Amino acid sequence: MDKLGIVVPCYNEEEVFPITAPALRKVLDDLIAKNKIAEDSFVMYVNDGSRDNTWNLIEKEHEEHPVQAYGVKLAGNVGHQFALTAGLLTAMEMCDVTVSIDADLQDDVNVIEQMIDKFHEGCDIVYGVRSDRKTDSFFKRTTAQGFYKLMNSMGVKSVYNHADFRLMSQRAVRAYSEYKENNLFIRGIIPQLGYKTDCVYYQRLERAAGVSKYPLSKMLALAFNGISSFSVKPINMVFTMGIIIIILSILAAVYVLVSYFVGHVEPGWASIMCSIWFLGGVQLIAIGLVGQYIGKIYIEVKHRPRYNIEKVLSNDSEEK
Ligand code: UDP
Ligand code: MG
Repeated sequence: MDKLGIVVPCYNEEEVFPITAPALRKVLDDLIAKNKIAEDSFVMYVNDGSRDNTWNLIEKEHEEHPVQAYGVKLAGNVGHQFALTAGLLTAMEMCDVTVSIDADLQDDVNVIEQMIDKFHEGCDIVYGVRSDRKTDSFFKRTTAQGFYKLMNSMGVKSVYNHADFRLMSQRAVRAYSEYKENNLFIRGIIPQLGYKTDCVYYQRLERAAGVSKYPLSKMLALAFNGISSFSVKPINMVFTMGIIIIILSILAAVYVLVSYFVGHVEPGWASIMCSIWFLGGVQLIAIGLVGQYIGKIYIEVKHRPRYNIEKVLSNDSEEK
């Protein structure tokens, strides 16, 4: 039977924790009763340097339910993406399959069962996808959806309306652990792993208690990080703009020369116009060109894995 570890990053979640903990314990109990996961499956709470009572609550939960509730205390606040990674990598050693979920119960815990079913059908990664965002505020909804669209147009592969509610098998987490970058945008990395994936759909609920820990500034930082960590398109855009300006400068040159010969131009105007346009284009191309190299250096220094083997058929390796 596969052992499940549910990973929950928690930052100042003392208000919602007393609701979340029993809800997740119930999920484990139900799945164990249905014989879908091992009896020693657990929930791992990662305390992301909370300044409130969260860690005490996690300790108490672990004392009362030593088999079902684990805790990881990070030394300081490192942000959601790192807290989640810390939890996944710690849990990886202790279980066969992980599910990551936010502490605020906005993601529907009832679809974890469907995720486990898909895992048993052979998926390594199962994304939780919001089928609608009615409960999000208008502002949150439009900014979030704009963000997914922008990501896509920048060529960052990511799953539309999926945040960080997902199932990952042990080997998927292990493959993920090879991505050692510090500009971390987990949602962009997971589709690169290449394993068999599927989605389950759910309605995003209201936060069970407490307030959002993702103010606009953190959201914008995440969005920019997502794009700049996965895409060199912005650099290409500079380059393309340079070429466009050079073409325009030729048109401008024609216009300037015609005006010059037709007359009525101030002395010096024609030469200045031509050089401004032409040099502007040359400069943009030069910056874009330097940018291309910087983009390559950027990709190299990440030391991302270049491939991920799913299966090897050979004579001397045991079947995996
Ligand atoms: N979180 C975290 N560290 C942070 C900010 C948030 O671990 O610095 C956790 C938080 O406790 C929650 C999850 O990340 O479990 C998502 O945060 P939240 O629900 O506030 O974001 P929203 O749903 O509003 O985007
Ligand atoms: Mg939330």
